[in-house]
Amino acid sequence: MARTLDIYCKVCNSKAVVQRTEKIHSDFNKLYCYCRNPNCRHKFVMNLEFSHTTSSSLLTKDQILFSALENQFRQLSEDDKNRIRKMLD
Ligand SMILES: [Zn+2]
Repeated sequence: MARTLDIYCKVCNSKAVVQRTEKIHSDFNKLYCYCRNPNCRHKFVMNLEFSHTTSSSLLTKDQILFSALENQFRQLSEDDKNRIRKMLD
């Protein structure tokens, strides 16, 4: 089951919530958080950075495969390209 991001206050270890997100870059956001403990009320910023893909997006998978095939196709001789074109007809 999918989980949401849990953020904890480093002062009192209570759960915190994100008040707003500042997008610095497509792969980097600053999360402005505050502690939900009424006796603490610590406000702080967490950095959230994209690391790597573990499963390709269905939205880009075809594009990546097509691009890879296109690059391979360019390296073939005209004779080989024609052979492939005949196979696809
Ligand atoms: Zn706190």
